[in-house]
Amino acid sequence: MLNLKVEIDNNSGFCFGVVYAIEMAEEILDERGYLYCLGDIVHNDEEVKRLEAKGLKIITHDDLGELKNESILIRAHGEPPSTYELALNNNLTLIDASCPVVLKLQNRIKNSFDKKEKIYIYGKHGHAEVIGLLGQTSDEAVVFQSIDELDIETLPKSLTLYSQTTKSTDSFYEITKTLMEAGITVNSNDTICRQVSNRDRELRDFAGKFDHIIFVSGTKSSNGKVLYNVCKEQNPSTYFISNADQLDSDWFGSGETIGICGATSTPMWLMEQVKERLSTF
Ligand code: SF4
Repeated sequence: MLNLKVEIDNNSGFCFGVVYAIEMAEEILDERGYLYCLGDIVHNDEEVKRLEAKGLKIITHDDLGELKNESILIRAHGEPPSTYELALNNNLTLIDASCPVVLKLQNRIKNSFDKKEKIYIYGKHGHAEVIGLLGQTSDEAVVFQSIDELDIETLPKSLTLYSQTTKSTDSFYEITKTLMEAGITVNSNDTICRQVSNRDRELRDFAGKFDHIIFVSGTKSSNGKVLYNVCKEQNPSTYFISNADQLDSDWFGSGETIGICGATSTPMWLMEQVKERLSTF
């Protein structure tokens, strides 16, 4: 036995936006036994499997076009206006679990668009939240996931910058600085969710306290990638896993300390499972 000393980060686990969506889904599932959800309810395959076993049916936007007279859950990432229009046309009832933080950002972007500002969104191409944000501008805003995608010479002299809620705060401020140094007037809006940026700081402290860090997250989670990198910077012996089966006892030495943490989409029960598995090494 390796007698590992294992601790789960108290600040890890679902953010309030995800808790809200999952609680809403479970309440309906308990009542009706099934519920459609547009896209993965959370970017964590293990949690999705758990909810599918209770009757959750994940559907795509194409599937949505085929449904009529049903109720559909909108997950925390939010949706563009076109989804609400489609629902109206097909007599679908949307159960809206869009996170309030995302809804507020959608409104801000819509206001900027109405004022005819030149809108740039720092976010991941094709990410559900970004599609919802872009929809507020009739898809006219420019989305970029790296400053290298922008041709600084041809950018407008004045622009409004927003961020997807789960991007890295450091990168956002770096981008703002680069644009300003190029002589561009930037109306820079740090719209990164505090559930992510605060966790960034807390994780730096946490990750430094252990011999190894096990970062638990789904591979599709945006903030999972950001927060994993935060841990890895702080503690080079950080491992990314999505479930307990991916653990390898060769990673650890006798009596070493292990910290377990995760993304805003990582369920606490999954981190508990990882802890339990470690206790068998
Ligand atoms: S990370 Fe923030 S914005 Fe995203 S769902 Fe959670 S609380 Fe909402």
